Amino acid sequence: MSALFPALYARSPAVGTGSGRPALRCGPDTLTYAGLARAAGALAVRIGGAGRVAVWATPSAHTAVAVVAALLAGVPAVPLNPRTGERELAHILGDSAPGAVLAAPKDELPAGLAALPRIDVDLAPAAGPAAPVTEPDDAESPALVVYTSGTTGPPKGVVLSRRAIAASLDALAEAWEWTADDVLVHALPLFHVHGLILGILGPLRRGGEVRHLGAFSVEGVARELGAGGGTMLFGVPTMYHRIADALGEDARLTEALTGARLLVSGSAALPVHDHERITAATGRAVVERYGMTETLMNTGVRPGGEPRPGSVGTPLAGVGLRLVDEDGSVLGAYDGETVGEVQVRGPNLFSGYLNRPDATAAAFDGDWFRTGDMAVREADGAVRLVGRKATDLIKSGGYKIGAGEIENALLDHPGVREAAVTGEPDPDLGERIVAWVVPADASAPPAETELAEHVAGLLAPHKRPRVVRYLEALPRNDMGKILKKALPAAR
Ligand code: ATP
Ligand code: MG
Repeated sequence: MSALFPALYARSPAVGTGSGRPALRCGPDTLTYAGLARAAGALAVRIGGAGRVAVWATPSAHTAVAVVAALLAGVPAVPLNPRTGERELAHILGDSAPGAVLAAPKDELPAGLAALPRIDVDLAPAAGPAAPVTEPDDAESPALVVYTSGTTGPPKGVVLSRRAIAASLDALAEAWEWTADDVLVHALPLFHVHGLILGILGPLRRGGEVRHLGAFSVEGVARELGAGGGTMLFGVPTMYHRIADALGEDARLTEALTGARLLVSGSAALPVHDHERITAATGRAVVERYGMTETLMNTGVRPGGEPRPGSVGTPLAGVGLRLVDEDGSVLGAYDGETVGEVQVRGPNLFSGYLNRPDATAAAFDGDWFRTGDMAVREADGAVRLVGRKATDLIKSGGYKIGAGEIENALLDHPGVREAAVTGEPDPDLGERIVAWVVPADASAPPAETELAEHVAGLLAPHKRPRVVRYLEALPRNDMGKILKKALPAAR
């Protein structure tokens, strides 16, 4: 297969053209393509012998250099979330057994990593590699082992090949007309596929530029996007929520969003209400991408049309996507109503869960990967996710109800700031709908009956919450995903 990073070689000093072009900017650190080839090349030589390396994946240029170096060396990299707790870190280290950990010189590593040899990432090594370093040519060899978010169970190590990474990035590039002229502004964490593969490896594969904000801030977006040079923004729903809140007061932010070519959200459902607020203020739609660690990107855009709130678009080129109902039959015509489990196949798929042949086998139906996500398809093929099979499908009074649409309806109420919906056992209904609500104004939360009637009026009477519980904040993970299993404890 072709190299993952053609621009790294084309623009390296050996070739000379365009080598001074910025590849990566993060906080105080800027690397040109020549600088990246030198730093990652020098590091690749140092880690060459290791079987697998852990990467202390802070939002920094060091993480990007470490991962590119591992890819050049042909050593699978295991990105670690720096905020992972002791127990989860021990699980990941025990499972992935890395031979060393790569970190920025200033990083303090937790005790759990003390037993591993440490290799410091040098962004500007005094000497580059003796000869230009290029990647190994084995498309199926493991490139990254990325642990899932652990939203529904203990994190599993997802083995990703170069083939899967290249296929997914190229399908996105085609859908989004992503080129070397694009400057991506991004603030996602780098221990996860969205932030790392799409957000860092994506621009480097295209030969464009990535500017990582370090930490997300509305000011950072306003500064970098649009007139600041940024053409694309990658975010998660919590970021767009904060952007939507700030739009009224910040003219520069509105200009920045209007001036961008592409606004992308993913990792969790973008509430329709936030999407509509952004479109109302800027005239711009947000493209929702739907993907997961195991499949990388599944959907991205709706061909020939503006993205619609609540829809994650159509499958990307090369991605097979089908909906399967409970008795295992594949749904035929798209009616925008019938719910099925999303199953996916294509060159974007992972190679298997590390050390978990049982879990890998259970996750597949032939070559179709069972995502555990439930969706409907519109007549034009666009996918509308309704939630996860495990936590978001409520069976109440003979109806199957997706939590997502009730959450969207609740968020439409001016008194609701955040909302999550779950099902609880009910002797009469089987399950009853429970709404967990963070009020916009804690001193004057909307009444339970008012919210129930609001939902019933927008959707249907059987979709109204039977119980409303008020919280100060919803429990979320580092990607901003709501941890539904942690809701009872959050009370
Ligand atoms: P675990 O598998 O350990 O429970 P996880 O599924 O949250 O964790 P990821 O691979 O990070 O781990 O997340 C993928 C999931 O995120 C998808 O299966 C889907 O449920 C959700 N998701 C991703 N993009 C979107 C989106 N645009 N809209 C709604 N949900 C999304
Ligand atoms: Mg998952």
